[in-house]
Amino acid sequence: MNDKNKHIDTKLIHSGEPSPKVLGSVSMPIFQSSTFESAGEVDYHDVRYIRLNNTPNHIALHEKLAAIENAEDALVTGSGMAAISTTLFSLLSQGDHFLAQDCLYGGTHTLMNQDFPKRGISFDFIDGNKPETWENKINKHTRLIYVETMSNPLLQVADLKAIVDCAQKHNLLTVIDNTFASPINFRPTELGFDLSLHSGSKYLNGHTDIVSGAIIGKKDLIETIKHHLDHFGGSLDPHACFLLHRGLKTLSLRVERQNENALNIANYFESHSKIKQVNYPGLESHPNYNRTSSLFDGFGGMMSFVLKGNVEDADRFISRLSLPTEAPSLGGIETLITRPAITSHAGMSKDERESLGISETLVRLSVGIEFYQDLIDDFDQALS
Ligand SMILES: *Cc1c(COP(=O)(O)O)cnc(C)c1O
Repeated sequence: MNDKNKHIDTKLIHSGEPSPKVLGSVSMPIFQSSTFESAGEVDYHDVRYIRLNNTPNHIALHEKLAAIENAEDALVTGSGMAAISTTLFSLLSQGDHFLAQDCLYGGTHTLMNQDFPKRGISFDFIDGNKPETWENKINKHTRLIYVETMSNPLLQVADLKAIVDCAQKHNLLTVIDNTFASPINFRPTELGFDLSLHSGSKYLNGHTDIVSGAIIGKKDLIETIKHHLDHFGGSLDPHACFLLHRGLKTLSLRVERQNENALNIANYFESHSKIKQVNYPGLESHPNYNRTSSLFDGFGGMMSFVLKGNVEDADRFISRLSLPTEAPSLGGIETLITRPAITSHAGMSKDERESLGISETLVRLSVGIEFYQDLIDDFDQALS
């Protein structure tokens, strides 16, 4: 399908689908075969084998993912962390330096702090809101800038346009983790990012039943990264490819509902007397409201809020809810709730958390696709 000018809703259904259909099968079948009969391939990376990320289930997903972010190419991986680590270890070598946003996903933060220094790769953290502080951290070994579309759990949105401009000026690569926004709300390559990464375990699959990852962006970079992925071995199994593929077809329906639900719930919390603060970029009270409105097509399904009272009050509130499940992770069809101080950010000291604005009573919500009034009624009874 020549789908360049089609709407993302159409691309989610039609891009990457085999043409002609495999034996007429309307739904892409699962090719559960580790290896394939030789068709005269001469290059190792072209030999068809699951670890080499090129079975029919991989190829269909690569085309669909590239199409929905208006990018040149894409690659699926065994997890979001496989996408992040393979990308960075493919693009950086001993002696290189990079800049990274200071409020990263916990797994990424740990990867950088523990696995890069011992391999001779250094980095400096930057404040995504202060472009004037970035330039003096760039040196002649600096190769790339790494950011996230929305920070966890405060939902801050960095000055993404300034990141791209700064990188172009200094000839640096730009890599962004777009998991929280999803391609429905933001497509990084349209703003000029070189690579967009996803934990496909979250919104892309959307059903909380697989772990997967994606790397989307420039063709030459994707090819370099594919060759490393072939060696590192973090490929996605065809059955998980099938589930990710199936989940993707409803991405826009799900995320549109999640955007709508989250805005309604954020407004509810903001007006409630027992809530001290709500962090949701769709509220005018959020410091990045204007930036998010101009860059994104939607504000997303993630938010966090601070209850008045102490930690016991916050835990009592969570335990009295009947619809949201208390669990880490996010982006699925069901609403999940967690207290970051004891889950996603438990690896940090209390002081580190406080300095980033993550208090002990902060609660994070991943809004699902339930009817929002039922969720609000549940929050209401738990708060009272
Ligand atoms: C979950 C997550 C990851 C890691 O993804 P996995 O699929 O769990 O490996 C990376 N970045 C963000 C923003 C995430 O939410």
